[in-house]
Amino acid sequence: MNYKEYISIVENFPKEGIVFKDITPLMQNGEAYKAAIEDIAVYTRQKNADVIVGPEARGFVVGCPVAYALDLGFVPVRKQGKLPREVVKVDYGKEYGKDVLTLHKDAIKPGQKVVITDDLLATGGTIEATIDLVEQLGGVVVGLVFMIELTNLKGREKLKNYDIFTLMQY
Ligand code: 5GP
Repeated sequence: MNYKEYISIVENFPKEGIVFKDITPLMQNGEAYKAAIEDIAVYTRQKNADVIVGPEARGFVVGCPVAYALDLGFVPVRKQGKLPREVVKVDYGKEYGKDVLTLHKDAIKPGQKVVITDDLLATGGTIEATIDLVEQLGGVVVGLVFMIELTNLKGREKLKNYDIFTLMQY
């Protein structure tokens, strides 16, 4: 399937100069969304993942249906103050200042094989922070999955020690 047909390119969103890739038309189309999830599920099965981890909010859109398709669990990574129990934390640099991501301390068991999902790989900062959380708990990251990769931002170089699968490249 040509997934790019279902991506809307929005100029100057969320701010001037940014060309945003909007995945909501793909999600809206039952056939396209299902095909994308099935492709990602095939990769995740090959990686023998025990559990899927995804950062809020679009990491859930990719990760939850894949987890369901493979009878696996899904573990959410969230911004500080959103998870109700004891967490591990990581600070990560964003374009403007810092942000904190968190993961429940009991969410990953040491040695568990983890596939991490998100909608889009840009600089790789979000996923690097997510990997840090998983590894703090002893999880083994066996793969990283994105619907979209922005190749000019060189996320792959930052994440060169990990296996990466993407459906579309821009
Ligand atoms: P990174 O941390 O790799 O620089 O940025 C990726 C994160 O920012 C992802 O969580 C993704 O959801 C969000 N993001 C950045 N640019 C875009 C975009 O053009 N489209 C979408 N859908 N998400 C984006």
